Amino acid sequence: MPTPKRKLSRSRRDKRSANKGLKPKAVASCQTCQAPIATHKICSECGYYKGVKILRTKQDRKFSRAQTREAVQAKVQSRTNSAGSSEPSSAS
Ligand SMILES: [Zn+2]
Repeated sequence: MPTPKRKLSRSRRDKRSANKGLKPKAVASCQTCQAPIATHKICSECGYYKGVKILRTKQDRKFSRAQTREAVQAKVQSRTNSAGSSEPSSAS
Protein backbone atom coordinates (compact mmCIF):
# COMPACT_ATOMS: atom_id res chain seq x y z
CA MET A 1 0.00 0.00 0.00
CA PRO A 2 1.46 3.38 -0.98
CA THR A 3 2.26 5.67 1.90
CA PRO A 4 3.28 9.35 2.05
CA LYS A 5 7.03 9.88 2.13
CA ARG A 6 7.00 12.07 5.21
CA LYS A 7 4.66 13.38 7.84
CA LEU A 8 2.53 16.39 6.92
CA SER A 9 3.16 19.17 9.44
CA ARG A 10 0.26 20.53 11.48
CA SER A 11 0.69 23.84 9.73
CA ARG A 12 0.33 22.38 6.22
CA ARG A 13 -2.60 20.13 7.21
CA ASP A 14 -4.46 23.01 8.88
CA LYS A 15 -3.84 25.35 5.95
CA ARG A 16 -5.60 22.85 3.67
CA SER A 17 -8.59 22.40 5.98
CA ALA A 18 -8.92 26.16 6.45
CA ASN A 19 -10.40 26.34 2.92
CA LYS A 20 -13.13 23.77 3.64
CA GLY A 21 -15.37 26.21 5.50
CA LEU A 22 -19.09 26.68 4.91
CA LYS A 23 -20.10 29.15 2.25
CA PRO A 24 -23.19 31.36 2.58
CA LYS A 25 -26.21 29.87 0.80
CA ALA A 26 -27.77 31.67 -2.15
CA VAL A 27 -31.05 33.40 -1.31
CA ALA A 28 -33.73 34.09 -3.89
CA SER A 29 -37.11 35.78 -3.55
CA CYS A 30 -40.47 34.16 -4.23
CA GLN A 31 -42.09 35.09 -7.58
CA THR A 32 -45.57 35.38 -6.08
CA CYS A 33 -45.07 36.79 -2.55
CA GLN A 34 -41.45 38.11 -2.69
CA ALA A 35 -40.50 36.24 0.52
CA PRO A 36 -36.82 35.25 0.83
CA ILE A 37 -36.43 31.54 -0.02
CA ALA A 38 -33.61 29.09 -0.78
CA THR A 39 -33.02 28.54 -4.51
CA HIS A 40 -34.84 25.59 -6.18
CA LYS A 41 -37.16 25.22 -3.19
CA ILE A 42 -40.92 25.64 -2.75
CA CYS A 43 -41.90 28.85 -0.93
CA SER A 44 -43.14 27.90 2.53
CA GLU A 45 -45.09 31.16 2.85
CA CYS A 46 -47.43 30.74 -0.12
CA GLY A 47 -46.68 27.17 -1.35
CA TYR A 48 -45.77 28.24 -4.88
CA TYR A 49 -42.80 27.11 -7.00
CA LYS A 50 -42.15 28.94 -10.29
CA GLY A 51 -45.67 30.34 -10.28
CA VAL A 52 -47.34 26.93 -9.75
CA LYS A 53 -49.21 26.01 -6.55
CA ILE A 54 -47.49 22.94 -5.04
CA LEU A 55 -47.94 23.00 -1.28
CA ARG A 56 -51.09 23.49 0.78
CA THR A 57 -49.91 25.84 3.52
CA LYS A 58 -51.23 26.24 7.05
CA GLN A 59 -52.82 29.55 6.02
CA ASP A 60 -54.71 27.85 3.14
CA ARG A 61 -56.09 25.17 5.47
CA LYS A 62 -57.17 27.83 7.97
CA PHE A 63 -58.93 29.75 5.18
CA SER A 64 -60.77 26.70 3.78
CA ARG A 65 -61.81 25.64 7.29
CA ALA A 66 -63.29 29.11 7.92
CA GLN A 67 -65.13 28.94 4.59
CA THR A 68 -66.72 25.55 5.38
CA ARG A 69 -67.66 26.79 8.84
CA GLU A 70 -69.39 29.82 7.30
CA ALA A 71 -71.24 27.62 4.80
CA VAL A 72 -72.48 25.32 7.59
CA GLN A 73 -73.58 28.30 9.69
CA ALA A 74 -75.45 29.80 6.73
CA LYS A 75 -77.20 26.48 6.11
CA VAL A 76 -78.21 26.17 9.77
CA GLN A 77 -79.45 29.77 9.84
CA SER A 78 -81.55 29.32 6.70
CA ARG A 79 -83.04 26.12 8.18
CA THR A 80 -83.92 27.85 11.48
CA ASN A 81 -85.33 30.90 9.67
CA SER A 82 -87.62 28.79 7.47
CA ALA A 83 -88.73 26.39 10.27
CA GLY A 84 -89.19 28.60 13.35
CA SER A 85 -89.55 32.23 12.33
CA SER A 86 -91.50 33.08 15.52
CA GLU A 87 -88.40 32.58 17.71
CA PRO A 88 -86.10 35.64 17.58
CA SER A 89 -82.40 34.74 17.42
CA SER A 90 -80.32 37.10 19.58
CA ALA A 91 -77.00 35.34 18.79
CA SER A 92 -74.89 37.34 16.39
ZN1 LIG B 1 -44.13 32.77 -1.82
